[in-house]
Amino acid sequence: MCIFCKIANNEIPSNPVLESEEFLAFHDLNPKAPVHILIIPKQHVDSFSEISGAMMERMTPFIHDVAKHVGIFESGYRLVTNSGENGGQEVKHLHFHLLGGARLKWGHFDDADPKDFF
Ligand code: AMP
Repeated sequence: MCIFCKIANNEIPSNPVLESEEFLAFHDLNPKAPVHILIIPKQHVDSFSEISGAMMERMTPFIHDVAKHVGIFESGYRLVTNSGENGGQEVKHLHFHLLGGARLKWGHFDDADPKDFF
């Protein structure tokens, strides 16, 4: 069982923010912004490439609720999901990173030159 399945099953602890029957939001262990929350389906889904449109339709209002719950819905936020190897996905269970609480830089791309990738 993957690490986020264990968190969803309460087999390992997390710092939860909001939960529904189908989804869970908890604080990232290694925050990259004042607010950095991970949002997952409790049922295992490998990555964004695997989520159904029907599940995404249910997940969207949950993500909105999390952003409202932590007070960043109005001020703004960044929603990121890394998918697959080139996307830099480390945990192979779909998760959205919800980042906010400050004016975020477009940091990953500041010093990137597309030529570096060829
Ligand atoms: P990614 O690189 O998109 O797969 O992101 C994985 C994220 O999971 C990283 O931001 C980690 O800090 C975070 N993470 C890994 N293990 C845990 C955990 N047990 N509890 C909370 N966050 C975690």
